[in-house]
Amino acid sequence: MKSSDLLIPTVKEAPNDAKIISHQLMIRAGLISKLASGLYSYLPMGLRVVQKVEKIVREEMNKSLAQEVLMPVSQPAELWQESGRWEEYGPELLRFQDRHGRDFCMGPTHEEVITNIAKQYLRSYKQLPMNFYQIQTKFRDEIRPRYGVMRSREFIMKDAYSFHIDEASLAETYQVMHQTYCNIFDRLGLNYRPVLADSGAIGGDSSHEFHVLADSGEDAICFSDGSDYAANIERAETLPQGDPSAPTQELSVAETPNVKTIDDVCTLLGIPSNTTIKTLVVDGDDGNLVALVLRGDHELNEVKAAKIDGVAQPLAMADEEKVQKALGCAFGSIGVVNPPIKLVVDYAAACLSDFVCGANEDDKHLTGVNWHRDTPDFVAADLRNIVAGDPSPDGKGKIEIKRGIEVGHIFQLGTKYSDAMNANVVGENGKSVNMNMGCYGIGVTRVVAASIEQNHDDRGIIFPEAIAPFQLVIVPINYNKSSRVKTLADDLYQQCLDKGIEVLLDNRKERPGIMFADSELLGIPHRMVISDTHADNGNVEYKARNAPEKIEVIYGEAADFIVSKLA
Ligand code: ATP
Ligand code: MG
Repeated sequence: MKSSDLLIPTVKEAPNDAKIISHQLMIRAGLISKLASGLYSYLPMGLRVVQKVEKIVREEMNKSLAQEVLMPVSQPAELWQESGRWEEYGPELLRFQDRHGRDFCMGPTHEEVITNIAKQYLRSYKQLPMNFYQIQTKFRDEIRPRYGVMRSREFIMKDAYSFHIDEASLAETYQVMHQTYCNIFDRLGLNYRPVLADSGAIGGDSSHEFHVLADSGEDAICFSDGSDYAANIERAETLPQGDPSAPTQELSVAETPNVKTIDDVCTLLGIPSNTTIKTLVVDGDDGNLVALVLRGDHELNEVKAAKIDGVAQPLAMADEEKVQKALGCAFGSIGVVNPPIKLVVDYAAACLSDFVCGANEDDKHLTGVNWHRDTPDFVAADLRNIVAGDPSPDGKGKIEIKRGIEVGHIFQLGTKYSDAMNANVVGENGKSVNMNMGCYGIGVTRVVAASIEQNHDDRGIIFPEAIAPFQLVIVPINYNKSSRVKTLADDLYQQCLDKGIEVLLDNRKERPGIMFADSELLGIPHRMVISDTHADNGNVEYKARNAPEKIEVIYGEAADFIVSKLA
């Protein structure tokens, strides 16, 4: 195509709300345009990139024998009531009514719709397994839409759902999807890692997220330096750390007026936070309270906490009045010596000795506290986020933490939806069986942003060839003044088109500096410059976006030169 036929609204400055580089560059390169919070239009160049991603996803999904379908964005409430998620899903689910007053929602995901389809059309185990996918717009009313299309409210997702007669068949397709995702992200040229993710009710290794490694990532993922273990922080287990050493200190009371936080306690008493204990009180599932106890420098892992026996789900911090009533003190002074509520102690806190904690009395703390001697009744559990330096849960090596952007998620659902919605088939023995299901998502538009996070420099985007909006840009100098340059540029453009190269001819009446800057901002992988000077030598100038050198190429060989580069 020629630049004169395309809208490519590049700009020098990014808007103030663009905090991360991919957001800034997508706006500056004219790939997207903001409509409202979390809503973006894809302009011609942006859409070309999105469609390239879609093409790779589609080819690999087809190769895995998944079948493409397309489901409606709007979904009737009845389906969501059947699955129980009309109540469960919360405000991310955008609900509305049609003209007859019937409830609907904008699909944030499509388990209900596909299960409904499977229920209608799948009758016998002989038809299974089957895997359906679509590439379609989702709506999620995100509490904090940000980072452009990275976390938007409307976005394009590839979602797939597989149906199986048993868990073994589900596990097999899950492996095929794992490999398919690796093939997709390899082809997209991303530096990514599959990591173990929280697998909800099913447990085991039945869920993986695919993370693109980038400092701007919203997720923390941990890796072992001694094995290929990788997991989302939410999911990574921490190991028991053995028994505490024998007490050496007497239990005593320290006056701590107006001390509210661990930092305040440490400053006042002049001790490090890893010798203190903090106690968080949450609602129990029987109306009583449960105390969750952590080492002062550790963070509660809410996913783990919600799974502890006796803790209410979803996890809810107890309100202060209730705590005051049960324990006789405010939040800042809660401690572990004989509180009248159940104590669940994180492994790392359970191995401390001679530690400091609240006294269950306002403005007082206890020092020289020891488990067993001072507080016999507690259970130890894994409650905290893993931290750098912890032993790897697989027993090999130590943990390192990096930031990741979740671009894909695969999940063994089991029979959660088929049980709720009665999606069954006739099994081999003639009895009806609820189908096992898997679901597999890729954030197509997030992939574009994630790729830019990994591929850019101070002049702009450096698209990998696989998803670049064009493979080659021809930049003629004085196109509108020199008829020789115009002829050479037009001819080369035509030769490239004939060879199937996706080529952009920059025929604008712009200064060369602007054309160079735009081609670099847009990240087009290959550039040919044609000028009178190069023409005098029978050459064109070639430069790859990702390399500094400029090379003279014989004009007559230029198109083939690019073909060889695109191999
Ligand atoms: P997150 O933890 O980032 O909110 P999620 O767990 O809600 O993601 P899934 O429901 O597994 O995501 O959705 C599948 C994929 O869709 C994600 O891996 C991600 O790539 C993409 N995705 C999810 N939410 C958004 C969003 N708000 N904007 C863009 N892409 C998204
Ligand atoms: Mg989400």
